[in-house]
Amino acid sequence: MSRAARVGVMGGTFDPIHLGHLVAASEVSYRFALDRVMFVPTGRPWQKREVSAAEHRVAMTELAVRDDPRFAVSRVDVDREGPTYTVDTLRDLRAEVGDDVELFFITGADALGAILTWRDPAEVLRLAHLIGVTRPGHELADPGLPEGSVSLVEVPAMAISSTDLRARVASGAPVRYLVPTSVEHYVHEHGLYRAAS
Ligand code: NAP
Repeated sequence: MSRAARVGVMGGTFDPIHLGHLVAASEVSYRFALDRVMFVPTGRPWQKREVSAAEHRVAMTELAVRDDPRFAVSRVDVDREGPTYTVDTLRDLRAEVGDDVELFFITGADALGAILTWRDPAEVLRLAHLIGVTRPGHELADPGLPEGSVSLVEVPAMAISSTDLRARVASGAPVRYLVPTSVEHYVHEHGLYRAAS
């Protein structure tokens, strides 16, 4: 009997997506034997600063993943009205893929550390196994989650950060080799992250 498909759900703001995110998805795919990973840009992030328009973040994410057949982009969060809650993300994707698929929700360990403040954390845990991606040297504050419900994966390339990239663009510093070339071009063509924008 063939095993159930294992699908990663890579949730993030992706403002902008960078090579750290791609390395993280690839590394988690390898370690957890995932068949594919859906990148899910948040719609209206909950508890969050102003972010770039969803269409820009989706477009950059599509450019970043288009050469890797394991990766795809889902619009479930940007197409849903209202603030983005992960429980809705996972319910929508579960409805799309059916009950026979195992879901693995992947995001930054910092974000996961606050999961008990999210909407319906028990249902999130029921719908997916959680994987927190950490930067080197990062310690996860104990979020008080049930034993075994969260796995942590250290990804050195996550030393790259979207916050730093936005600051680099604003100050005219290069982002080459930190984001895919197609994303670098997109950022410049659309004038994203300039100091005045
Ligand atoms: P964030 O606060 O912008 O990011 C927290 C940290 O995690 C940052 O260091 C970030 O680095 C990193 N990170 C974010 N996404 C990542 C990914 N997919 N892989 C590896 N590292 C990642 O977090 P966010 O983007 O707002 O939220 C992350 C996910 O959690 C989203 O899917 C969001 O919808 C969900 N979330 C849900 C709730 C809720 O249900 N109430 C609340 C908060 C977050 P970069 O900045 O470099 O990406």
